[in-house]
Order: sequence, then C-alpha cells, then structure tokens
Amino acid sequence: MRVAVFSTKPYDEEYFERYRSQKDLEFIYFEASLNHHTANLTKGFDAVCVFVNDKVDGRTLKSLANHGVGLIALRCAGFNNVDLEAARAHNIKVVRVPAYSPEAVAEHAVALILTLNRKTHKAYNRVREGNFSLNRLIGFNLYKKTVGVIGTGKIGATFCHIMKGFGCRIIAFDKYESDELKQLGVEYKPLDEVFKEADMLSLHCPLTPDTRHMINKDSLSLMKDGVMIINTSRGGLIDTADIIKGLSSRKIGYLGIDVYEQEENLFFQDLSESIIEDDMLLRLNSFPNVLITSHQAFFTKEAMEEITHTTLNNIHEFKEGRSLTNEVV
Ligand code: NAD
Repeated sequence: MRVAVFSTKPYDEEYFERYRSQKDLEFIYFEASLNHHTANLTKGFDAVCVFVNDKVDGRTLKSLANHGVGLIALRCAGFNNVDLEAARAHNIKVVRVPAYSPEAVAEHAVALILTLNRKTHKAYNRVREGNFSLNRLIGFNLYKKTVGVIGTGKIGATFCHIMKGFGCRIIAFDKYESDELKQLGVEYKPLDEVFKEADMLSLHCPLTPDTRHMINKDSLSLMKDGVMIINTSRGGLIDTADIIKGLSSRKIGYLGIDVYEQEENLFFQDLSESIIEDDMLLRLNSFPNVLITSHQAFFTKEAMEEITHTTLNNIHEFKEGRSLTNEVV
C-alpha cells in the first residue's frame, strides 16, 4: 500500500520512519501541502496523510477519487480542512488522531499565559544585553483570577486542571458539561457570562460554522477591559480585524495565539528572508502585548509519538479492511 505524506517536515519523516515496521507500507514524503493544484501528485497512491493546513476541499477530493485514493489520514485532531460531505460522496474514508496529547496543547496555552503575564521573553533579552531594569516588567498573580474556558473537551479539561493548580477560579462554556470538572470546582455558565467575568479567556473548542469568529467586536464589548485572550485552537475562532481594533483601543490587555486564521501560507515555514505580505499578521506582531507562536502547541516528543502510532494504526486498519477506530463521520 502506498501513502503520500503531504506537508512533510523533517520531524514527520523521522518519526514515521522510526516506527514504520511493516515493509508493505510505502511512504512517499512531499514537502508541498495538498490542495487542488498538488492533488495530481497522488496518482498511484492508495492513501494520503495530511496535516492542519492541507486543503482537502471538493476539488481536491475529486482528483483524489479519480486517482483511486481511498483514505485520508489526518495526523491531527481537527478536521475543519476536509470537506467531509465531498469525501463521503467520493467514498473516501477520513481518519484522524482524536487525542494525542491534550497535555501538550494545554501546557502551551499556560506557557503563553505565563510569558505574556510575566514577560519572561522580554526579561531574557534585556538581561542578555546587560539591562537589569525591572521597568515595565510588572505582571499579576494568577492566584484568584477568573479564567474563562470555552470548550472543555480533552484539552480544555486538562487546561482546567492546570489552572486550578494556580488557585484560579474557573468558569466555562461547553455544549456538554462535564461532571468531573464540576467536581473539580469548574462553574459552567452561558457564553456571554463567561465573556463578561473572565480575566483570562482560553479557547479550546473546534472551528465550526457555529464557533467561527466567536471572538469579534460584539463579544469583545462584553469583556473586561484588559482581558487576556489565548487561542491554541483554530485561528478562525477569532475575527482578526476586530481583535486588532480591540488591541488598539486597549480593550484587550494581552493576546496569545498559536493559531492564526491566515496561517496556511506562513506557519511551519522559515520565511525569515522573505517579505511577509500579510499586513494583519504584521500589525499583530507590532503590539508589545501580543505573543504569536506558529502552531507549535502540539509539538512535544510524547505527542509526536502518539500521532505517529495512531496514524500508522489508522492506515493499517484501512489496509486490512478492518473497522476504522478513528473514522471521522
Ligand atoms: P475535543 O473534541 O475533546 O473538545 C472540544 C470541546 O469543544 C468539546 O467538549 C465540545 O463539546 C466543545 N464544543 C463544540 N462546540 C462548541 C461551542 N460552540 N462552544 C463551546 N464548546 C464547544 O477536542 P480537543 O482535543 O480538546 O481539541 C480542541 C481543539 O484544539 C481542536 O478542535 C483543535 O482545533 C485544537 N488543537 C490545536 C492544536 C495545536 O497544536 N494548536 C493541537 C490539537 C488540537
């Protein structure tokens, strides 16, 4: 069975080659991302393996079907980049890695909070240049602050546990409330109440038509002045133009994002010698209270191992005609 791996980085190949035990699975690695332009590369393959920014839309799926590709193996949890209806229509199965390490992402959200708050990134640079001044490095105690968590699935729940350890009050919104989290002391509230009461807001729900641009001028108007917003989920949850206005007006005190709505042509690449043409990203980067990482929240050794094992298992199940444990339906 031949698998075309798209958006390959050196670490993807390293992990697949380390754990790929069966010789009858042939992996061919492409640096290019999968979209309707690159779909021609899939001729002669049985499966494709894709990541968060591959665009598996109707046109791409039509080409895949014409080439006889029967499986899309996502090496991530989110599947908002796949047109599931078109996949069904072409009888192409879609599998994903539903949970590889909620700790990896939740811990990165906490890293963004701590860095923005205590400004360790600025302190590091200052001290290396012999500047030992504390001016403008003042932070705030997390203890007793109110954290609003939107989406209390695997990552959101892990995040709640960590923030509880800091002594925060945790309020949350999810369509499905967790009894386990209620026992931990998490208070579920309507979404607007969470927006109103949170000192820090962390987004952990998927990107769907319902959640797209949930952070916009209307929701911002409900929030406390100086609110901290953390997004490690999907860029599309935030209306970037509105958030830039919120930063300019000082409504938003801190913004930490690991995802960005227009990230697909930027993130995961070294563009340090290129002219970046995304004016919104450049504007965001110009604020001293904004911290952007390029979709690295998942990126721990433990998560890479789990992603690799689950993806290989997903592909083996398909190859052997077994029922697909992690099928997206
Ligand atoms: P999950 O499915 O376990 O949890 C998602 C939760 O969101 C569920 O409890 C669901 O009920 C809730 N939800 C759905 N719609 C909602 C809405 N309208 N409002 C509030 N809550 C809603 O998923 P997870 O594993 O916790 O992952 C969460 C998200 O994190 C993923 O969808 C993905 O986009 C993102 N993610 C990012 C990275 C990264 O590296 N930055 C890595 C993995 C996942």
